[in-house]
Amino acid sequence: MRQDKLDLIIEGGWVIDGLGGPRVRADVGVADGRIAALGDLSGYIADRRLDAAGRIVAPGFIDVHGHDDLMFVEKPDLAWKTSQGITSVVVGNCGISGAPAPLPGNHAAALALLGESPLYADMDAYFATLQAQRPMINVAALVGHANLRLAAMRDPSAQPTADEQRAMERMLDASLAAGAVGFSTGLAYQPGGMARAAELEGLARVAAARGALHTSHIRNEGDTVEESVDEVLSIGRQSGCATVLSHHKCMMPRNWGKSRATLANIDRARAEGVDVALDIYPYPGSSTILIPERAEQIDDIRVTWSTPHPECAGRYLADIAADWGCDRTEAARRLCPAGAIYFAMDEDEVRRIFQHDCCMVGSDGLPNDAHPHPRLWGSFTRVLGRYVREAELLTLEAAVAKMSALPARVFGLAGRGRIAVGAWADIVVFDADTVADLATWEAPTLPSAGVERVLVNGVQVHPPLPDTPRPGQILRRSVAAQA
Ligand SMILES: [Zn+2]
Repeated sequence: MRQDKLDLIIEGGWVIDGLGGPRVRADVGVADGRIAALGDLSGYIADRRLDAAGRIVAPGFIDVHGHDDLMFVEKPDLAWKTSQGITSVVVGNCGISGAPAPLPGNHAAALALLGESPLYADMDAYFATLQAQRPMINVAALVGHANLRLAAMRDPSAQPTADEQRAMERMLDASLAAGAVGFSTGLAYQPGGMARAAELEGLARVAAARGALHTSHIRNEGDTVEESVDEVLSIGRQSGCATVLSHHKCMMPRNWGKSRATLANIDRARAEGVDVALDIYPYPGSSTILIPERAEQIDDIRVTWSTPHPECAGRYLADIAADWGCDRTEAARRLCPAGAIYFAMDEDEVRRIFQHDCCMVGSDGLPNDAHPHPRLWGSFTRVLGRYVREAELLTLEAAVAKMSALPARVFGLAGRGRIAVGAWADIVVFDADTVADLATWEAPTLPSAGVERVLVNGVQVHPPLPDTPRPGQILRRSVAAQA
């Protein structure tokens, strides 16, 4: 009998390491928040044993595309994450983040996606609040480019003066010093969309100097998607900054198929040494703020929330317009500020992009929406159920790697994303035969099936246990983790 006692042994499961290797039958021993032993642990003493016979034991999933910045304060149980096996999230995407706060009088419509509470003065203040709140899962944060513009520029709809550019670069550098893993741009939104190459490359050079990265919601995901991908690849090429293309897609039927060209350009850039990766959410509909200019371009638009008309959440824009006796553009104008789901993607194309070697999974969930896109609750289990078990797009081991070790490497999250002795005990136990997303367009907040246990730093978060301190940590970028 071994004398060194373990906190927990997960017994009898099939262990997937997260690196893509084939599953092996092994017990997993946890002590002090880390994986302390692997193999046949029948001779060990442990406080608790968990039967995982017939189940998969995998690294907890890393959601690379979150908008939960303020939710750690507003709705800290984060059940939409834990119930699908997510143990770490990257927040601050699409150019918007919990800090820094705008100068008085500056505002951006997209900030409404984050929630109700005020933003923080800087990333130090944001992280201090997170730490005091104790996050439910681990969190890595990007700083939003829109926030930098709104905090540094008198007129964020203009081009930055030399002083304002320096101020943005200083704020970015301070954010990275505080622990942000990079910065994000939302070039499809204002004021981020005003930015030109020199501004973005200047910021990317600051990030590159600290080994941090740039994630981008590109300027256009429709008619000019190829040029928009090339723009972001060029920023990476010119600055040496690692780059992630967020929620890559080609919107509108006339643009379906263009991902063949965009993925080829990504491969070419990678061959030239540009460090670039991408992510998707596994659905054919997108979601963001309601944009009246899109109302006539896309047939199927579903309203997710509306400040002046909360009763319209969940209804189709066309039906609302018919009831009101106006056209869809006018109805959209009356609903704003509001959010929407746009059905304008091709499922086959989403699947093709997902299969790319450097494609990760990001939920892009919007937990503040009254009637959210189902990706909030179901992205990771949808991959396991529909893409792996039903469609057999790739092996379970390869899919888990895209959701664990690959994002840990891309975002520099040391000790995360794998089942190995010494790694942090972020673990999901699920049934490969039944795991499935249950959230739908009609009922978007249903938890997934088949996810039996989720541990964050060795502490069970799903199903939730009463009176357990929230175990998440703030994850700061580690350049060594890239090795
Ligand atoms: Zn986005």
